[in-house]
Amino acid sequence: MAGKSFFIDTTRCTACRGCQIACKNWNQNKASETKNTGSHQNPPDLDANTYKLVRFSEVEAEGKVAWYFFADQCRHCLIPPCKDAVEGYTAGTVIQDEATGAVVYLEETKKVAAQFEQIRSSCPYDIPRKAADGRLVKCTMCIDRVSNGLQPACVKICPTGAMNFGDREAMTALANERLGKLKEKYPKAQLIDANEVRVIYLVVDDPRKYHKSAIASANPGISRKVVLRRVLKPAQGLLSGWMST
Ligand code: SF4
Ligand code: SF4
Repeated sequence: MAGKSFFIDTTRCTACRGCQIACKNWNQNKASETKNTGSHQNPPDLDANTYKLVRFSEVEAEGKVAWYFFADQCRHCLIPPCKDAVEGYTAGTVIQDEATGAVVYLEETKKVAAQFEQIRSSCPYDIPRKAADGRLVKCTMCIDRVSNGLQPACVKICPTGAMNFGDREAMTALANERLGKLKEKYPKAQLIDANEVRVIYLVVDDPRKYHKSAIASANPGISRKVVLRRVLKPAQGLLSGWMST
């Protein structure tokens, strides 16, 4: 499998949130207005100005309190359901870059602003958000940097080695090597949805203890309405072409 991938080793994350800030900085996204919610996590969720968010969970693990950190972002799915969902309404507004595999939303996603909730629900990880001007937004894999031989901003800034990025083969090898090392101490250690996505997380416990959408929801899919629109649209095109001849 060609293209690029991330490997995010959550055991190395200290929740410094350098990646979150580097992402905002590179994408020139403004700060999100927020307030203290009693958690280290801030803002409370991904939003139109926050493509990357270090999620924070306090859980019980083996009878002790544990803190789990999860640097959430678009997974750049190998077969992205959000692209199918958008294209059910309008073609050519979400591209999947051939060289890297990055799933990139174009400015023209404004055309589907009214269908945002349906598109958001097609994502197994609850990632897309809507900007004030109607664009759908999310992590771009820093396609502008990566296409010029640079690392994504969030990876470049990470001081602990939690964030890694490179050729998919190298990243999957690194992920499996690290998993092998951790398995002895943490029998529940696992790579999340590694064969489906380009952002591979290593966790040491049930992924849902990190975040409810850390692992793909059981039946994300595309709603029946979107599927029907996809099937009917070309058929209607053919029909009107036939009728006009
Ligand atoms: S790859 Fe770029 S856009 Fe995506 S989370 Fe990292 S810094 Fe943000
Ligand atoms: S994680 Fe969600 S937003 Fe990202 S490519 Fe997959 S379906 Fe699309």
